[in-house]
Amino acid sequence: MPGESDIIREYFAGAPTRGDVSLGIGDDAACVTAGDATLAVCVDALVEGVHFPAGTPARAIGHRAVAVNLSDLAACGATPLWLTLALAMPRADTRWLADFRAGFFELANAHGASLVGGDTVRGPLQVTVQAIGRVHERPLQRDGGSPGDDVYVSGPLGDAAGGLRFVARDDLNHPLASRFLYPTPRVSLGTALAPWATACIDVSDGLAVDLERLARASGGGAVLELDALPLSDALRATFKHEEAQYLALNGGDDYELCFAVPRAERERFEGWCRENGHRVFRIGRLDHGDALVLTANGEVVTRPLAGFDHFADGSD
Ligand code: ADP
Ligand code: MG
Repeated sequence: MPGESDIIREYFAGAPTRGDVSLGIGDDAACVTAGDATLAVCVDALVEGVHFPAGTPARAIGHRAVAVNLSDLAACGATPLWLTLALAMPRADTRWLADFRAGFFELANAHGASLVGGDTVRGPLQVTVQAIGRVHERPLQRDGGSPGDDVYVSGPLGDAAGGLRFVARDDLNHPLASRFLYPTPRVSLGTALAPWATACIDVSDGLAVDLERLARASGGGAVLELDALPLSDALRATFKHEEAQYLALNGGDDYELCFAVPRAERERFEGWCRENGHRVFRIGRLDHGDALVLTANGEVVTRPLAGFDHFADGSD
């Protein structure tokens, strides 16, 4: 049975592409040119029981549907402009709809993104949002990194995957739950990274797989220093160190940016981040290898790794 990326590559990625497509299938968003503008386009589906458990608050579903798309735009350095919404739901529950709308527009409005169309149908709960944004300088892509570049992430990792465990058992007040329910897309950082970053991806499937994707797209490997992984106080307080580290490496849904910056720019870049209030954590570097290598205290180590693939188990 093919995995998710095999399916995309074998059935969808090979079709002929128009000349105005500057970046097609394979990155966080596609980039197309229309007149003088470069637009970034992405779409993500959230399915009940797959991306969020049944019983997830409607406001959080609305927020997440926008957030995951703004995060993909941010990973390409694009400013969000327009959204479309395809909503399938089993019944027209007006209370649910009011809460969903509140979460959706709270985040969309905060970023000046307008809902301009969509589709509303009856079916199992599924929310699909498409986002279109504008790229001002050049798009950030996964494939521009070089060996030696420093690798950064924009925030602590593992909180969302840790939080999901509490959301799944209806403990919505746990401090980690909100990190799953209401992720923060790093829009202002993403749109300011073009002068610095050589490559960028957002961490949606887990740091280990997403960093490896960035490194492979950039034609090499990466070294990840486990001691440098940012773990939040809440994650440390909730899980034993080994489990917290597992979640930070493998947990999805954090929607932090992971990006590469040339080593020669390190001091200037980190100074710029401090001056502009962008929290970033240096976690490793790109190298000439062909895989992700983990280190602890300078020694190569192994840890259990498990990225998310919708079709990984080969089941029907
Ligand atoms: P992300 O996690 O950043 O949203 P995905 O892993 O979902 O990205 O998808 C990887 C790449 O494959 C993206 O460029 C996405 O647009 C593309 N893609 C995924 N599914 C399809 C499909 N059915 N048809 C065309 N492109 C697809
Ligand atoms: Mg992405």
